[in-house]
Amino acid sequence: MSDSAVVASNILASRLKGRVVTPDDNLYQSEKNFPWSQTCWLPAACYVQPHTSDEVAIALKCIKEAESQFAIRCGGHNCNVNVSSVDSSGVVIDLRNLNSLSLDRTSGIARVGAGCKWEQVYAFLEEHGLTAIGGRQKDVGVGGFFLGGGMSAFSNLHGLGADNIVNFEVVLASSIIVNANKDENSDLCHALKGGGSNFGVVTRFDIQTCEIKAQYTLNMYDLADYSNILRATIEVQEAMETDPKYGMFVTFYPTMCFVGLFYADWAEETPKAFKSMKSLVDSLRPATHLRRQVYTASTKLSYDMYLNIHKHWLGMLEKNPGAGNMFYAIPPVSTNVSQLAEARGGNPMGIERVPQTWWAFASEWEDEVNDAAGYQGVSELCSGAQKIAQEKGQLLNLIFMNDASTSQNVLASYGADNARMLQETAAKYDPQGVFQKLQYDGFLIRKM
Ligand SMILES: Cc1cc2nc3c(=O)[nH]c(=O)nc-3n(C[C@H](O)[C@H](O)[C@H](O)COP(=O)(O)OP(=O)(O)OC[C@H]3O[C@@H](n4cnc5c(N)ncnc54)[C@H](O)[C@@H]3O)c2cc1C
Repeated sequence: MSDSAVVASNILASRLKGRVVTPDDNLYQSEKNFPWSQTCWLPAACYVQPHTSDEVAIALKCIKEAESQFAIRCGGHNCNVNVSSVDSSGVVIDLRNLNSLSLDRTSGIARVGAGCKWEQVYAFLEEHGLTAIGGRQKDVGVGGFFLGGGMSAFSNLHGLGADNIVNFEVVLASSIIVNANKDENSDLCHALKGGGSNFGVVTRFDIQTCEIKAQYTLNMYDLADYSNILRATIEVQEAMETDPKYGMFVTFYPTMCFVGLFYADWAEETPKAFKSMKSLVDSLRPATHLRRQVYTASTKLSYDMYLNIHKHWLGMLEKNPGAGNMFYAIPPVSTNVSQLAEARGGNPMGIERVPQTWWAFASEWEDEVNDAAGYQGVSELCSGAQKIAQEKGQLLNLIFMNDASTSQNVLASYGADNARMLQETAAKYDPQGVFQKLQYDGFLIRKM
């Protein structure tokens, strides 16, 4: 344990009694093993669990006083090591008890505690006949999802999750609690819509909800049919340009192709663009803790390029069998996503106004001995795909934070102007650079 982390643990334990889990506590193991990826099961010096924004402010003050390293954790679903986890050289601020939920029925604005998981938000809103633009998996935390932009099944119709936020409550490095919205601290509000954990600890997100109106199917396909699947994928992506109600996720695993087809309406018939995607088997993947790494790249649409990337993936599976369950997904982003972002005041992500795909490349494996092969496999899978896209003139700059590796320069990918704006905003709201110096790792401005 580092000296400063020990000092921080002691100060936290005395000033936030009952809110600190140390290695001597029974709960310590379950706190350590909370993250989704086993690679993030690191033994922090302690886990501090504030219940209110004021307690977050106290926790930050103690950490600053001790000059200890720290990480902020919400749903623990970011699989990059040291992003929401830290070893004994630091403290984890665990936000899970900031889980209040309320709704203003007139405006349809929900106030969501920043420690909620999507499961809690959906269940609460459904009681009111509403939903939100959130994660596709119930266990994902609202914190990391929103601060990385947030891609939902219905983002083509409603925009990114972050573009549906009307106000952030934030504890700044000074421990002052502020609101950030279009009228108050508007630069901070803008920066938080994709700018990550660089500016403060967000303690509440106020979000615009929408009505529940959706149909979906989850299908499995034979891998051998990949050329038809990819052609049909492009067809659905093209259909999204004129009808943003379409949503889709296509994922190729080594043994099957798994496709989610969504349509934001109730209809008697299968939406037209889905008709060439008949299911072989309907299935759901079981959720389990594995070791995981992700990488991402964004490209325009091109059937030839999709085919080449697919063949590159097949080659990688053959070449690198130790890299675990290596797979990729094609999350489609229609032009409407960037239009909606602009219409709602903009975000710093620099999304180009073209139909595009934010490819997600991932590998999952069970055993620590496969770590090197797993990391290398997925990194090469992504760099090879980027090379193919580059050669075909289809590569875009954006690296989507929520599916990125921390070795990728997400904030720089937003473009020079946006990157400068993020730097200026961080310098304004955190002049001492607490979130840069003491935060252990992440998609940080200091790494740009
Ligand atoms: C199974 C699975 C499904 C997924 N599905 C989707 C999806 O549908 N759409 C999508 O966009 N992404 C998806 N993701 C990616 C996911 O959104 C990101 O990994 C995200 O970072 C997870 O958020 P979290 O709060 O669970 O993670 P955490 O690991 O707790 O946090 C991630 C990052 O956000 C920071 N952070 C979290 N909360 C706060 C806060 N309140 N204030 C300041 N910083 C904070 C953390 O410090 C860390 O840097 C999925 C991931 C998995 C594993």
